[in-house]
Amino acid sequence: MPERILIVEDEEKMARMVELELSHEGYDVTKCPDGLTGLQCAERNDFDLILLDVMLPGLSGIEVLRRLRKSKSTPVILLTARDEVVDKVLGLDSGAEDYVTKPFAIEELLARIRATLRTSAAKEAKFQEGDAPNGAVLTAGELSFDIGRHVVSYAGENIELTPKEFDLLRCLLENKGMALTREALLDKVWGYDYIGETNAVDVYVRFLRSKIDEKYGVKLISTLRGVGYRIEG
Ligand code: CA
Repeated sequence: MPERILIVEDEEKMARMVELELSHEGYDVTKCPDGLTGLQCAERNDFDLILLDVMLPGLSGIEVLRRLRKSKSTPVILLTARDEVVDKVLGLDSGAEDYVTKPFAIEELLARIRATLRTSAAKEAKFQEGDAPNGAVLTAGELSFDIGRHVVSYAGENIELTPKEFDLLRCLLENKGMALTREALLDKVWGYDYIGETNAVDVYVRFLRSKIDEKYGVKLISTLRGVGYRIEG
């Protein structure tokens, strides 16, 4: 079965061009011209990947992503017209896997799509054979991580995590008390052929700390200078 890709893009010419190229590559392509229909379409169908423009009429791409992440972990590549750090961080924080800055060469977009699809397939396979069985509940102090129910809580209070934050925390907890290098975390959580920002691990550890350590005044995630990170029991 061809992989299904949703394009949410208001610039008709751009959307048509990407649709033609992706169809030519053998993908099954659906197009939506604005944020609201894009969100509804993404929620009601199971796409393998979503290309999401940031500057959309009505609902912005970031807002679409935030709302989508409440129910779905479909990989998202953001299409951003502005090469601004704030957009990238906002996008990554909201749960995007990657971003491509416009204008882009179609070859670059295709490479990012292939890498993201491979990473998501490899990650699923890895977690199925992962260290902890899918019904397990992992803990560290008052932190509880229910893999099967996909619920993370601290002292009984639910914590909302983006898919990447969830995967990173799972990886740290499965190796509780052990030092994990940035390279090991990148490999396990992002996939060995990840081609995005190299400081992704640090950025996401910061996100996790703000949602757990800083919020609850604890120190669960330690930085091991020159090595990587470790979660404490
Ligand atoms: Ca746009």
